[in-house]
Amino acid sequence: MDSNLENKKSFIADHCKTFPMFSQIEISPTNQCNRHCSFCPRPDENISISFMNMIEILNQLKTINYDGLITFSGMGEPLLHKYIGTFIMVAGTTNAIVELITNGDMVDEEMITFLFECGLDRLIISVYEKEKLLYFQELRGCLEIILRPRWNPEMFELNNRGGAMKPLSSPLKLPCYYPFYMMMIDENGKVYPCSNNYRKRYPIANTSYESLLDIWMGQKMRDLRLKLLKGDRNNPLCKECDVKGYLIGQEHFEAWRKYYAETRNP
Ligand code: SF4
Repeated sequence: MDSNLENKKSFIADHCKTFPMFSQIEISPTNQCNRHCSFCPRPDENISISFMNMIEILNQLKTINYDGLITFSGMGEPLLHKYIGTFIMVAGTTNAIVELITNGDMVDEEMITFLFECGLDRLIISVYEKEKLLYFQELRGCLEIILRPRWNPEMFELNNRGGAMKPLSSPLKLPCYYPFYMMMIDENGKVYPCSNNYRKRYPIANTSYESLLDIWMGQKMRDLRLKLLKGDRNNPLCKECDVKGYLIGQEHFEAWRKYYAETRNP
């Protein structure tokens, strides 16, 4: 397990309360990217989330006293969004931990100063070239910067990203904890129950029409969770996916099991 996964696992566990609130919101500010990686299914069309949509999302998180993780990430490079500094500042007015995942190409001393002055709590750099490691290590100093060794596939676990690559011919009989502790919002405001849905199929809602809390507590998430509680992945989203899905979030999984049992809604 890489160090970011270890960190996240304990954070997510600590944030599981009696009411099974999400503990991570991953938001894709843009699908634009400066790279053209062969493995990335990024579409040709460049789309960025609208300023107002993002501010509305962040304001909702503030209103509900959200204190989990806000992760600016997604299919594109988040540092390419022209308002990323403002988004970090507004996210910083919530009680959440604010982090951003980047490919590192735009990261230098000036960028790091800017991001942390805006209120970023943690910068996660996916390092695709080993030669750049030393440069990032020197920049890191005492700031919370996590380096992910993406140049070496032996140092992290590969999966088929929700069936986008080498899809399974039959569904695994395994639970998956993702929809129990997180949601992902793309640059169109569409909401997905996990971050492994690389082809962005089967959105469950759109933030333009429903509140985050309504989506989280809504029928589509409930139906998916009730199946996954039984280890049943035979649904359009999960049936081709080989992600283990049980590395993080067991506390949430159990909290939802209890919640559905107590609300007599199994
Ligand atoms: S089984 Fe795969 S697609 Fe389904 S929620 Fe888990 S990670 Fe996502």
